[in-house]
Amino acid sequence: MKCPTCNKPVDWKDNAHRPFCSERCKLVDLSKWVSEEYRVPGKPIPGDTGEEEGTREVPPGAGTEN
Ligand SMILES: [Zn+2]
Repeated sequence: MKCPTCNKPVDWKDNAHRPFCSERCKLVDLSKWVSEEYRVPGKPIPGDTGEEEGTREVPPGAGTEN
């Protein structure tokens, strides 16, 4: 089973946040549903979104050695 939010393997044993891996992911998913419900056409919610866009992490040392 994988966490619907972050796609990480979820430990189902003693996990109070199933099917999520953590409370954080649970809240993230919850807020997703909430924003869907309260979504107003043509009126995007300021902040909180678009942070993952264009962010690309390059591992340090990649291609620099040798
Ligand atoms: Zn997760």
